[in-house]
Amino acid sequence: MSLRTILATAAAKAVLAACHLTGRPGSSLPGRAALKVDPQIIASLAAQVRRGIIVTCGTNGKTTTNNLLCDMLEAQGFRVVSNRLGANMMEGVAAALATAASPLATRPPGYRSAPASGGPLGYLDADFACLEVDEASAARVLQYLKPDYMIITGLFRDQLDRYGEIDLTMKALEKAIALAPDMTLVINGDDPLTAFLAQKSGHRFVAFGVSEQTTPEVDFPPAEAVSTPVSTPNSSDEIREGRFCENCGAPLHYDFYHFSQLGVYRCPSCGFKRPAIAYDAARVTMTPQLSFDVLEEDSAPIRISAPMTGFYNVYNILAVYGVLRELDLPTESINEVLRNYKPQFGRGELFYLGRNREQKVLLNLAKNPTGFGQNIAAMLQDRSPKDLIIAINDNAQDGRDISWLWDVDFERLADETVLSITVSGLRALDMQLRLKYAEIASTSAKTVEEAIERRLADGCGNLYVLVNYTALYEAHKYLEGTAK
Ligand SMILES: [Zn+2]
Repeated sequence: MSLRTILATAAAKAVLAACHLTGRPGSSLPGRAALKVDPQIIASLAAQVRRGIIVTCGTNGKTTTNNLLCDMLEAQGFRVVSNRLGANMMEGVAAALATAASPLATRPPGYRSAPASGGPLGYLDADFACLEVDEASAARVLQYLKPDYMIITGLFRDQLDRYGEIDLTMKALEKAIALAPDMTLVINGDDPLTAFLAQKSGHRFVAFGVSEQTTPEVDFPPAEAVSTPVSTPNSSDEIREGRFCENCGAPLHYDFYHFSQLGVYRCPSCGFKRPAIAYDAARVTMTPQLSFDVLEEDSAPIRISAPMTGFYNVYNILAVYGVLRELDLPTESINEVLRNYKPQFGRGELFYLGRNREQKVLLNLAKNPTGFGQNIAAMLQDRSPKDLIIAINDNAQDGRDISWLWDVDFERLADETVLSITVSGLRALDMQLRLKYAEIASTSAKTVEEAIERRLADGCGNLYVLVNYTALYEAHKYLEGTAK
């Protein structure tokens, strides 16, 4: 171990300790310090990981997928190093590795299996590294980190400012993938953009997906009350990034869509098509909780149940399942791990407030049209009366351009179970205007706190809070404080 690496890990830990003191855990500052001292820190620490390195990319679902994978591996007794809190650029990856190395290994926030503090200086005691990596940073990170597996959850249009168009995201990922030629891709086969990327890369890849059209089942609410994510036939005004074949430009033919551009597709012109699905979900039900079979060739189907909402979580779970199978690890404990899964804040976090905990508040991050669409769909599956708060900020982290609000199908909020809508955040007026065009009434509040306070006072006791990035911290802080 080089002296540089040792000094870099020491620097990272010192900065982490300072971050804790100043109440900024999960920041990427320790990583920035480590990289300054040793630009090779990621490579030298990653080389010590014993069993495997798995990175998770994709515009939606990275944190859930990565954390679930960590939980599964830790439940099997492995030591896992991870950036659980989602600091997913180069500095965040460096921070995760450096703060977990000895001497005096500190337990990074959200990191459950504390790394051993013994061992030689700069020693990293880890069986696996599970790291979510931002697509735009992937090529930088993969210069140093050579993963064994890369999960790609899917590619949807994200904050416009940060990534430009989806093409840029694809190019960035393509470059990153080429840097790790031995890496196996575990991909969402229902997404034509991801599938194209995998096929073009020449890497070995396995796909997960949902091959059957999801239809309302007995335990669904009445069919007319359900919007997507029940699969829709080949027509919709939702945004569809993958409408055209990436290979030849011809319009793709879809047998059906699940949501956004995900579905069963093929190109009638050049033959590009959805890849064979190795891990296939069937009999998906979403009430009272998410439940589905995983079908695999040559093995008996297993039924998975998760206390989660949202069809997109089927993909997150399938990705984790796929990696475990690829690693030849048992999957039996997946239901137990899912039962105990604690969402990171803002990913479907539930609070019970009020004197008798009679007020239910569900906080969800929604930062792009796909995320919003999915959150609205999940919310409408709850057929009990509810109040809704939407907070939209346009700080740098959120992306300054909020024109994507016009791509969200807010018209669906004209639903009898939605009793009231309160808008807030720096762009509350834009949000209110968007709703006005959807002919939906809303009121506004100066701050998220004020919005929540009002609805706790006069609401129906079932509150949904949908917020984008920077509004999330504010909302979370307030809800956590009030719940105490
Ligand atoms: Zn084509």
